[in-house]
Amino acid sequence: MKEYREKSVQELKSLRESGKRLRLVLETVIQAAKPGVSTKELDVIAEREIRAAGGIPIFKGYGSEWGKPFPASLCTSINQEVVHGIPSEKRVLREGDLLKLDIGLRFEGMVTDMARTVAVGVVSAEAERLLRVTRGSLDLGIANIRAGAHLSDYARAVQAHAEQHGYSVVRDLVGHGVGHELHEDPQVPNYFHAGIRDFVFTKGMVLALEPMVNAGGLQVRIASDGWTFMTTDGKLSAHFEDTIIVTDKGAEIVTRG
Ligand code: MG
Repeated sequence: MKEYREKSVQELKSLRESGKRLRLVLETVIQAAKPGVSTKELDVIAEREIRAAGGIPIFKGYGSEWGKPFPASLCTSINQEVVHGIPSEKRVLREGDLLKLDIGLRFEGMVTDMARTVAVGVVSAEAERLLRVTRGSLDLGIANIRAGAHLSDYARAVQAHAEQHGYSVVRDLVGHGVGHELHEDPQVPNYFHAGIRDFVFTKGMVLALEPMVNAGGLQVRIASDGWTFMTTDGKLSAHFEDTIIVTDKGAEIVTRG
């Protein structure tokens, strides 16, 4: 986790452009996510579109500092996989899959990060409900953010919505500051309890907010590839993420149109 640094007005301008480009790239990837397509094909599209937009894929090579570079520009996680799935030509999408796409880029020096959960073809009612509730959790959390609000306002709103629907919020992975680097302080958990240090959102803060919601228990484990997080009980998981700028009036979402 890198130390958080204030973003200048010019940097925030570039950040908005970065977010816009990232959103358009991901839209193209989502349109290609159909039964019969491999996750590797989606990664090829992602990298091509990022570079065509004048960006640099920020996930590719991430982790090389500690000898474990992520090999792709896109994370593709299917069904019980939570996040950080590695694209592969052997992983072919099937009708009914719940696919999580996580992507980031650097543009004019500024990094944005976002994720969407996508239904491949027609998914079960259960999967559809999990997708809807997870997106709702992020939206409710974001609605609680403005300069002067607390982390706990955001985190409690996310958690309450997921738990009211009988789901659980992943604890082992959290949101984060973003902008100059992919992962900056502060950590932004999507749940809250007395042991967590609360903090105040300040104007101009740039955050990547990313609840991961499990249909079953909150426990996750890492697969043998060393990257992919999966639910321990094998049940479905969903993930939505947006990059935001904190303002006096609320959160400006730079990865939405
Ligand atoms: Mg993130």
